[in-house]
Amino acid sequence: MGDRTYAAPTTLSEVLGLLADRPGTHPVAGGTDLVVAARVGKQPLPDSLVALHRVDELRHRHVTAAGATLGAATTHAWLATDPAIRERWSALSDAAAMVGSPATRATGTLGGNLMNGSPAMDTGSPLLVLDATVELRREGGARSLPVGQLFRGPARTAAEADELLVGVHLPPLPPRSGSAYVRLEHRRAMEIAIVGAAAAVTLASDGRVAAAAIALTAVAPTCVRVSEAADLLLGHHPHPETFARAGALARAAVRPISDVRAGAEYRGAMVAVLVARALTTATHRAGAAGDALTGRTP
Ligand SMILES: Cc1cc2nc3c(=O)[nH]c(=O)nc-3n(C[C@H](O)[C@H](O)[C@H](O)COP(=O)(O)OP(=O)(O)OC[C@H]3O[C@@H](n4cnc5c(N)ncnc54)[C@H](O)[C@@H]3O)c2cc1C
Repeated sequence: MGDRTYAAPTTLSEVLGLLADRPGTHPVAGGTDLVVAARVGKQPLPDSLVALHRVDELRHRHVTAAGATLGAATTHAWLATDPAIRERWSALSDAAAMVGSPATRATGTLGGNLMNGSPAMDTGSPLLVLDATVELRREGGARSLPVGQLFRGPARTAAEADELLVGVHLPPLPPRSGSAYVRLEHRRAMEIAIVGAAAAVTLASDGRVAAAAIALTAVAPTCVRVSEAADLLLGHHPHPETFARAGALARAAVRPISDVRAGAEYRGAMVAVLVARALTTATHRAGAAGDALTGRTP
């Protein structure tokens, strides 16, 4: 075993300096993935760790009607309860509220969730439909990229070893917009998604769908957007039959795998169900009349 090092600096520049100077150093935020994985013997703890929990710059949050910038160390507990996030970027709040237990949510962070690269991460699909961008920083440089470009595959991201995820930016949604995230799991808490679906919908003044986005969790190597399914809704009034058709298109767009949690066929069938549910809630939140959503009036 090599020499073990652990640092807990208080400034971002110190963190970036350590990542640059000590190759092989891994950041640790809440530790609910990294430390828990080591404890259960899934993968050893890296020899060199830099802790992020004392760095105020990574906990900084700026939320206005013009958008939200969330530091990478923002916890799920905060995302689940902040009134502005719940109201304006509801899908993200829905997802954060489902993560683990109250203890996991109080400790686990948005940055850690995105950087673990799991196809079952709960914040990934909400951020995809909300058109989020992420900011990566290294000593002497920074870059922003759409969140979809961060995800490269299971446990893989586009970040280089010396790059830190410092924050996530959420653009504002137009008026008459709503979003939602729903998840299928074997039990209500302390469970990983079998399938998850996020939707964002904007309605025109005549009540038709003016913009829509759908993304899926745990059915592909990364969280993925399914654009054809979302495009089908454009120009239509919200209606259960249209949502069911979008669900069927979403199902056809992915090739889920079978694993310990579920078989591929069951996962596929559940994609269609969850997409329709996510669209129903997102459209309700956008302000569509209840009758249209239950199919009683066109
Ligand atoms: C009991 C339990 C239940 C869970 N339930 C869920 C669930 O329902 N849904 C879900 O999605 N997840 C779940 N998780 C996984 C985990 O809690 C989340 O992924 C959490 O958001 C991880 O955040 P963290 O700060 O603890 O990450 P850490 O463990 O600190 O880090 C995770 C990874 O990200 C890297 N990292 C962390 N921060 C940064 C950064 N700013 N820049 C670059 N790299 C970084 C680390 O090096 C590490 O590779 C669960 C975990 C446990 C233990």
